[in-house]
Amino acid sequence: MIQGRALIDVKALRCSSCGAPLKDPTGELVACEHCGTVQKIVDARAFLDQILLQVNAFVRQSLPVGLDAAATTTIDPVARHNLWLSSIGPRMATEYGEYRFRTFNLLSHTMAALPFTIASDLPPGGDPRDAFLFQAKIQSVSSLAVDDASKTSLQESTGLAVAYAYALNNAALLSALRAERYHLMAKNFADAAQSLKGIARFSALEARFQGLSKLAEGLDQLTQTKVDPSRQAFHDALPALSLSRELISKDFDLAVMLQAVDEEISLTRASAYMLEALALDPQGFTAGSFLPFQALLGVLVQHRQMASGLWQRTLRAGDRQERVLQMAMDARRAQAQAAAVKVAPTVGPVAVPFWVVEVPYSFQTGAAWRKHAVEVAEAVLLAATFPLDQGAMNGADPAAVLTDVFSARERAGLMARIGGRETAISAGGPVQGLLRGTGPRPLSGMRVVPPISTHDDALVLAQSYIEVSRRNDPSLDHQLKLSSPRVIDLVYVPLGASPPGYPLIPPLGPLSPRSVGDPTWLTRLSL
Ligand SMILES: [Zn+2]
Repeated sequence: MIQGRALIDVKALRCSSCGAPLKDPTGELVACEHCGTVQKIVDARAFLDQILLQVNAFVRQSLPVGLDAAATTTIDPVARHNLWLSSIGPRMATEYGEYRFRTFNLLSHTMAALPFTIASDLPPGGDPRDAFLFQAKIQSVSSLAVDDASKTSLQESTGLAVAYAYALNNAALLSALRAERYHLMAKNFADAAQSLKGIARFSALEARFQGLSKLAEGLDQLTQTKVDPSRQAFHDALPALSLSRELISKDFDLAVMLQAVDEEISLTRASAYMLEALALDPQGFTAGSFLPFQALLGVLVQHRQMASGLWQRTLRAGDRQERVLQMAMDARRAQAQAAAVKVAPTVGPVAVPFWVVEVPYSFQTGAAWRKHAVEVAEAVLLAATFPLDQGAMNGADPAAVLTDVFSARERAGLMARIGGRETAISAGGPVQGLLRGTGPRPLSGMRVVPPISTHDDALVLAQSYIEVSRRNDPSLDHQLKLSSPRVIDLVYVPLGASPPGYPLIPPLGPLSPRSVGDPTWLTRLSL
């Protein structure tokens, strides 16, 4: 008979909910450090008995009648080796193949999420208890693995199964908002890394789990408003994830994980930017400091979910949160006078961000033999908060959120056109005027609305604007020859009288944008 004490890895109590080893219990109850389940000791003990029964059954099925695992260390190594080859090896290989497939599938997804967000695209998870049971079964016959090849495959398969079990715990934690989730995730990832330690084939995964553990630890500290430990953990996460990325890019088997690791690296940077922005809260970093960031991340998640058509690529970009949070950090630094951003020469209590888009075009003017092309570079200001305007996003009215230079143009007279004296078919003069007075300054004493669009989003909107303008104005379409807009800058325009209900529209006469997005949301997002 096999005794429980002979089974190295199942002698300790196991969590009845996830199967992970439990810390030495002191009272009647014990909380799992991996999934958070609080359970009675008697239940954990009953669960352990159940595992032992299943392990015993496995051994009975795998070994010839009359031989028990306790005796296997005393029998001849050649006989043990043959037993491994004929019985254990093939059984293990089949089940291991399945775990390997499921692990790689899970790890081809991003295993991290910023506060207030969940990972919604993870594959439906298996039961981590099954993976721990697989490990216990293989461990119970480990004395049969005599040669290096058997030992290596035993180590690889049990190591990966255990890492998978911990990763499954985290997949569940990533799919729901729970207060203590980052603390549990840090523990699961650390133990997943530990289970792969020394396995050359999986060193990329070991590094990835180490990095993810640090990222989760940093986020745990961040949510507790602890700046220094959080900053240190993000700092430690990056080299581990970068090492993992480097190893993965050289390994054909692991290449399916490359995009996921890139996103994890980006989320680590995003977390660090968010931390710096939070730490610079003019009111001091408290639980209340999270409110605008909760709103900001909520908006970004919503955009990602709604992304379709034109917006498919940019709103789903893996580094979108990073880019937006970096701009929020820059805005906060300018607010704290620790840095400067480009600020327009207007006055007001609220700084609203605008993208500066250059629209170079050439058009034909003149008639018959006097026809010639004129080259113009027009500047357009485009509200960096435009995703909060429905008409801009659904393509119905992209012109509402920018300085509509094509519709505001003064129509040249017939004589000017025939004579070829037109110098432009747009009228952006006042925008150029505003930009001339724009320069690097802090945003001291102002509320700041952070940009919620990226450079790439702005480009998509600018292209959409040009297309709609051409469609709506056949004469423009006829004359306009070339146009590939370029997003060249981000400027903050101080606006408004006193919040709330402030008019946040730059005073540019007929060129003034009609909308910078839903004012309620602008207030909620402002830093
Ligand atoms: Zn558990």
